[in-house]
Amino acid sequence: MTNSISVGVVGGGMAGSTVALRLAEQGINVTLFEEGATLVNGPPICHLHAGGNLYREISDEQCITLLRQSIDTLRVFSHTANIRPTVIAIPTHDNGNPKQLLARLKKLRNEYANLVERDHKNQVLGPVDDYFKLYDRDALEALSKETSPITAHTLDDWMIPVAKNLNLDEFKLPLIIVQEYGLSIFRIAATVSLALEKLDSCKVLTQSKVTHIQHQEDNIGWEIAYTSANHSEHTIKVDYLVNACGYRTGTLDDIPGFKRDRLVEFKAAYLAHWPDCKEEWPEVIFHGERGTPNGMAQLTPYPGGYFQLHGMTEEITLFKEGIVASSEHSAQPKLGGLFHRKLSDRWYQTEIEDRSKNAIEHVAQFIPSFCSAVVGGNPLFGAQQIPGDDPSLRAADVSFAGVNYARAEIVKASSALEVADAIIGNLEQDAPNQDCQKPLERFSTTHSLNADEIISLAKKLADDRNFPTALALPFGQYLS
Ligand SMILES: Cc1cc2nc3c(=O)[nH]c(=O)nc-3n(C[C@H](O)[C@H](O)[C@H](O)COP(=O)(O)OP(=O)(O)OC[C@H]3O[C@@H](n4cnc5c(N)ncnc54)[C@H](O)[C@@H]3O)c2cc1C
Repeated sequence: MTNSISVGVVGGGMAGSTVALRLAEQGINVTLFEEGATLVNGPPICHLHAGGNLYREISDEQCITLLRQSIDTLRVFSHTANIRPTVIAIPTHDNGNPKQLLARLKKLRNEYANLVERDHKNQVLGPVDDYFKLYDRDALEALSKETSPITAHTLDDWMIPVAKNLNLDEFKLPLIIVQEYGLSIFRIAATVSLALEKLDSCKVLTQSKVTHIQHQEDNIGWEIAYTSANHSEHTIKVDYLVNACGYRTGTLDDIPGFKRDRLVEFKAAYLAHWPDCKEEWPEVIFHGERGTPNGMAQLTPYPGGYFQLHGMTEEITLFKEGIVASSEHSAQPKLGGLFHRKLSDRWYQTEIEDRSKNAIEHVAQFIPSFCSAVVGGNPLFGAQQIPGDDPSLRAADVSFAGVNYARAEIVKASSALEVADAIIGNLEQDAPNQDCQKPLERFSTTHSLNADEIISLAKKLADDRNFPTALALPFGQYLS
């Protein structure tokens, strides 16, 4: 039985914490090592990507995978979605066309309909018929005369502030609204922390850095050496090792000499506070060519007038030499020193101000009234791995090497459950489990958590990490 197996998971980000949770919920003994003080404390997670509609450059297959994975994620991690749709706007200067997006949206809606038909609990993105909607000029002009309700309920309600604030002459119409939600990293961190605390089969070791791994003498199990908070050194033996070190996955691969092609990319998003904002906004994305001054702009709303901004230009989200590749000699791509300073939280105040203001201006070119927004806090940044050599890959999960060694290689948070399922499958090849429960039903401890306890811990985590607590709150809940 798999329950007699011991598993060591190195890295307590979204991937490692989800794997540990899945294994522990099944009663498998797992030890989770995390160098940081808390779980899921890595690069930002703000979009769910239920359909990959923020990436017009990826394949339909990747979009469908992300849709399926996102639905599973919402079913397991209840209380972590920021439920508000996304508006896709294509500026007139851009080469794209709304018609090009339509075929994919219809495919995604069909896929969503199939998933809901298979299991009604999959209906977590609202009614199938409302998965997306198009708004032509007449419809937008009519909405621009309406008053936004205090709480938006319908797609039309969400569209009112967009119709009021965008200069329609500057866009190729129709505008599209789609059920692409936000995802709260703070409520995910709170969920996994609270659930793992309740599960006896998981031992969580935070402030514990794994320094070495080697096969045990039988060449099957692994010996893990780690340093804990008080600098004391320890070793433990496990049967199976999961490398979930995020952008540092290659550092662990290099110890036993496992080869792997991968990219690492450093990126950042910025916080703005828009005091004049009196309405509930949807997410709005303005398409543009990545890496050029016209790179895509993203406005991600939070309660209390806070917005997170991305701008896919080198002066905002992207950085010169911010993407690096592994080499023949090392599975770990090496970022330059500038990024190490930023990764260890040592941004200069001028960098924060300059890049945040660039982001505000980038969005204000499309929403002129947004120019009254001010810098709203620290940037949300980090490095992420992309397995292989295609920088546009978005749907990725797991790979295996040697004996009893798995690597989590997610690019998007919603792929983490797939990693966990694949690892269970790998473990059960040797020791099939008799339990026929469906994977999504196996999270009884996680599902027993209530929204209030998750939100309360999420607020504390946001505060401890020096972000406004508004970022931890679901829509409809305002700052007290
Ligand atoms: C600017 C930006 C915006 C993003 N936005 C989104 C988004 O909206 N939606 C989305 O889904 N994804 C988004 N991503 C990607 C997402 O953040 C990552 O894909 C995801 O966090 C990866 O999770 P992970 O668990 O693999 O890695 P990480 O979150 O990096 O976790 C790895 C963990 O391993 C620990 N670790 C490493 N080495 C050791 C060691 N030797 N010993 C102990 N612990 C170790 C680290 O401390 C870390 O906590 C974004 C990324 C960036 C950079």
